[in-house]
Amino acid sequence: MSCNYAEGLSPYEHKGILGVPEKFDPVDKFNEKCELLAQLINESNHIVVHTGAGISTSAGIPDFRGPNGVWTLEKEGKKPTINVSFSDAKPTKTHMILKKLVERNKVHYIVSQNIDGLHLKSGLQRKYLAELHGNMFIDECNVCKRQFIRSCPVETVGKKCSGVPCAADHLSGGRPCRGRLYDGVLDWEHSLPDNDLFMAEMHSGIADLSICLGTTLQIIPSGNLPLETLKYGGKMVICNLQPTKHDNKADLIINYYVDDILEKVMNILGIEIPVYQETDNPTKLAQTIILDWMINRKDVIALEKIYKAKCKGVKKKRILIKNKRNSTEISSISQDDKSKIIKREDSSENEGIIKTEPLEEQPATTDQNITSNNIVETVA
Ligand SMILES: [Zn+2]
Repeated sequence: MSCNYAEGLSPYEHKGILGVPEKFDPVDKFNEKCELLAQLINESNHIVVHTGAGISTSAGIPDFRGPNGVWTLEKEGKKPTINVSFSDAKPTKTHMILKKLVERNKVHYIVSQNIDGLHLKSGLQRKYLAELHGNMFIDECNVCKRQFIRSCPVETVGKKCSGVPCAADHLSGGRPCRGRLYDGVLDWEHSLPDNDLFMAEMHSGIADLSICLGTTLQIIPSGNLPLETLKYGGKMVICNLQPTKHDNKADLIINYYVDDILEKVMNILGIEIPVYQETDNPTKLAQTIILDWMINRKDVIALEKIYKAKCKGVKKKRILIKNKRNSTEISSISQDDKSKIIKREDSSENEGIIKTEPLEEQPATTDQNITSNNIVETVA
């Protein structure tokens, strides 16, 4: 059962805001916003998608902070009723659409907080994916640090040793290694994997559009990575049912099911949605052959050059991204929080949801200082 992951983690108090009611855009607004998202995708040169537990709920895996989330119910002494095993869970429409958008060069990188392995199962290549909190279908060697794809989910979480010898010598060109395999799933106190975090941070800085799907952005550093895009002049779109920590910084917020949002966007873009094929699922192939799951050093170096060319010398407000996983200041989000959805200046009334000025230059938005062209929505 997928709850085993949550139960396997150490006790931890600061799990963020839990159980905030979900919100749904009315149909006309939903359609209008999807048009805008499709337009943004077409206009952008480098797009990063940040995914959280909300993209896997339609696969039967519960989220954490939703009204029926694992942590929300834990507080009430309950467990989620919708629960599928990690073995049986299949990639959702969203996972398959993201894989397709990467193949079509519309999306350039995916940063995931999910440990369910569904991006892997969709057939998405490693060079396009950062898994910041680990993956139930990955083992890691404690000596050579190679990662290997598993055919079944790990039985432990929190980087525990299974005692299985490293399989490096079974890979082409692999040298024998005396290491042992550990599960690749982080517990609260673990640092995020260096290469994944580095790639995620660089892509987020380079990006001119970050799209956040199914996450309340409360866990750092993952939840703050989309802000890197804003710091270098890009835009941020949030698609989530609950309010998020960074709604007030978003250029566009869509409150609806992510599967429905992306399906609509694909229709507008005229791109077919692929169907999940078991033959593309590396965890199935791993039943018979040894497959590694490594970020290629050459890809890191190549991206670093692009990152330095774009971002070097540009003053950032924050100096370093923390690499410890942690929940963020709880006081920063509340039911009274407002999400600013500001209209495009050149659009007619009730159209457009994109702000036209850099975020930092926006005055504190209140009902009094909003122009007739702006709308403000209250979250929750
Ligand atoms: Zn090894």
